[in-house]
Amino acid sequence: MSTPDPTGLAPGATLGILGGGQLARMLALAAADLGVRTHIFAPEPDCPAFDVAARHTIGEYDDEAALARFADAVDVVTYEFENVPSATAAFLAARTPLHPGARALAVTQDRLSEKRFVADLGLAVAPFRPVDSLPDLEAAVAAIGRPSILKTRRFGYDGKGQVRLAAGDDLGEAHQAIGRFPAILEGFVPFSREISVVAARGADGAFAAFDVCENEHRDHILAFTRVPARLAPAAAAAASEAARRIGEALAYVGVFTVEMFVVGADESVIVNEIAPRVHNSGHWTSEGADTSQFHQHVRAVCGFPLGATKRRGEIEMENLIGDAASRWRDLLAEPGAHLHLYGKRDARPGRKMGHVTRVLPGRR
Ligand code: AMP
Repeated sequence: MSTPDPTGLAPGATLGILGGGQLARMLALAAADLGVRTHIFAPEPDCPAFDVAARHTIGEYDDEAALARFADAVDVVTYEFENVPSATAAFLAARTPLHPGARALAVTQDRLSEKRFVADLGLAVAPFRPVDSLPDLEAAVAAIGRPSILKTRRFGYDGKGQVRLAAGDDLGEAHQAIGRFPAILEGFVPFSREISVVAARGADGAFAAFDVCENEHRDHILAFTRVPARLAPAAAAAASEAARRIGEALAYVGVFTVEMFVVGADESVIVNEIAPRVHNSGHWTSEGADTSQFHQHVRAVCGFPLGATKRRGEIEMENLIGDAASRWRDLLAEPGAHLHLYGKRDARPGRKMGHVTRVLPGRR
């Protein structure tokens, strides 16, 4: 291990990453560029990130003996997913620096605490109510109306743990459909576009956002990101400023992403959710910005200076989901297409297998 100093680590340090999927894989590749070694900790025996990291540990997130050995072997720990159990985060944070910290995890793991946190900052969110029971749901629907969306408070992603309520839908069935877990009801936002801000906050409090991304989902999964988002400069600035305030209030260190809706002719920005990590909508930065989101995250969590976020052209990122990755030969032959494959064996439907980024020189 290298010796930590108060201003941060140095190249040669070892970064521990919880989770071994494609985000950890791309973080490990970026870390290697910066002379930082990576050690992945994940429960699954066959992880995309294992192929590219110096070391890996296969262990459960509640295996304290394995976590303690992992913490001893690294200089700083980060993670690629927001559902790191709070006990795991606390155990590791007592032994080694953990970035982003436990508060960022606690706030973003629970949709209710996340919505309250964002609303308390004075930022716009959809109307919401906690729902712990069927009577709660009836009261929430009476207050918010329909259409609305019932979402589990925890463990929802890519549209899982959500049900949309239209006029006449049976509330008991909807409550059953989300497993009667603690939930929130959200008013449906009649958005014109979905956008995200991928941004970083450094250990010294520096803030750097990438240009606002415009996201197109299919079947609740991100299909395309295009940058710049079609947005008036004032709306783009408001989106970026919302992210800055969120990062500041969380005393955040690392890259994070704020997903937002754009509504109405005046393009008001409504915060949907915060991901305390690098994000699929930021994959374009690998070729499309001066610093990639992965390099930026490694810089931030190691206490290195943040990099420039300048965009290099007009960008489209296309996710390769399920058997779309079988087009790899054509994509490799396409001039200007940058193909990234995650090394996953089974191309199951809905599984993210890779992505391709196209950077068109021109509009900046
Ligand atoms: P989430 O899991 O909160 O990111 O939601 C997944 C997707 O569902 C979003 O990207 C939107 O397309 C849609 N969605 C979620 N919440 C709302 C809302 N309050 N109003 C309209 N659409 C929503």
